[in-house]
Amino acid sequence: AHLDRTAQVDGAVHSYLHVGPEAALAAAADIDRRRAAGEKLHDLAGLPIAVKDNLTTTDAPTTSGSKILEGWIPQYDATVVKKLRAAGMPILGKTNLDEFAMGSSTEFSAYGPSKNPWDLSRIPGGSGGGSSSVVASFQAPLAIGSDTGGSIRYPAFVTGTVGTKPTYGAVSRYGLVALASSLDQIGPVSRNVLDAALLQDVIAGHDPHDSTSLPESLGSMTEAAKKLDVKGMRIGVIKQLTGEGFQPEVSARFNESIELLKNAGAEIVEVSCPSFEYAIAAYYLILPAEASSNLAKFDSVRFGMRVTPEGSPTIERVMAATREAGFGPEVKRRIILGTYALSSGYYDAYYGAAQKVRTLIQRDFDAAFAKADVLVSPTAPTTAFKLGEKLEDPLAMYLNDIATIPANLAGIPGMAIPNGIAENNMPSGIQLLAPARADARLYQVGAALE
Ligand code: GLN
Repeated sequence: AHLDRTAQVDGAVHSYLHVGPEAALAAAADIDRRRAAGEKLHDLAGLPIAVKDNLTTTDAPTTSGSKILEGWIPQYDATVVKKLRAAGMPILGKTNLDEFAMGSSTEFSAYGPSKNPWDLSRIPGGSGGGSSSVVASFQAPLAIGSDTGGSIRYPAFVTGTVGTKPTYGAVSRYGLVALASSLDQIGPVSRNVLDAALLQDVIAGHDPHDSTSLPESLGSMTEAAKKLDVKGMRIGVIKQLTGEGFQPEVSARFNESIELLKNAGAEIVEVSCPSFEYAIAAYYLILPAEASSNLAKFDSVRFGMRVTPEGSPTIERVMAATREAGFGPEVKRRIILGTYALSSGYYDAYYGAAQKVRTLIQRDFDAAFAKADVLVSPTAPTTAFKLGEKLEDPLAMYLNDIATIPANLAGIPGMAIPNGIAENNMPSGIQLLAPARADARLYQVGAALE
């Protein structure tokens, strides 16, 4: 049914870079066989899923939205992909993203943008706009995303879906095409909080292949999502992420959510995080710095594309020609920014200063979590904008990330859930944040609020 739906709508929505009907149907038939034979299967066995195209898969190409990886079929499955297969979840296909997950709209995908199913003239968010739109357009009940600065939560916000960025280290990054290794985290996209909990429970857990993977289990998200009780919980409204700068209708829906939490017995407090003012500036130094290093491996020798220039093709000239042709403008912009920020004369002034801001943001969170169990804000300042609206203005695109970036800088978990329709008929949403390792709190509050 989901493949039929894709045949009907994906020409217009463009959620997928690759659809794999044969592999998905074969996996589904295998589950049917095993079930008929009386085998005890995982609760989600047989439920299909879409996977962001920056996770490696041995039976499908992995492009990460870039021309430089066109046609590359990895030799190994990402740990998350292995876990989905082990649970018996057929993989429908690979979803679109901004090139190397750099962006907020999917407009930086080398393969053309995805559209917002609510209004095809608007963006589905980014970088994981393929994973949000595939769920919002009913082409898949669940999807996997990755979140470095909001790429799960922001697409969820603009498409009326649920998206979680787990605690850094809760889900293995092995097999994720790295953007910024200290910020990247893989997580679920779904249509409700319980579905996201079920999926996080499938993909989480220690992995010896990822040295930053947490050794301990964070408990059952599914159990937390079933509590449906927020009595006595302290909910902290982040002063710097409300009010000024946020679209009035986004703020109106946010205030309604706060009222609902209050009526359900939660205690509402205000918290202040003064260093958030510098979060975007710090993020857009740290991310390009790490990305410039991570993307150095695309050298024309090891992966995908190779361009051989005329004349005498030395290795340097082949490398330069390949990277010139293979990378898009946003990727080049960030590589240049990152190598500049890391260069010896400027390291202390830019990268060093940004790392100090990162510590201040972590301290702001520590102080806020001393007063509240869960923090809340609107997920982003405005509902989905029009395709093309911010394409020529990188700074305007970056400013969108104000509410989502702090969680990545601090390594804490965050969840975006829909909280109604704004006056412009587009979905709005609320973000919940919890201390590191307390992901279960997000599912408890999120499911109760939903
Ligand atoms: N908008 C952010 C960026 O462009 C989001 C990136 C992400 O989470 N992958 O960096």
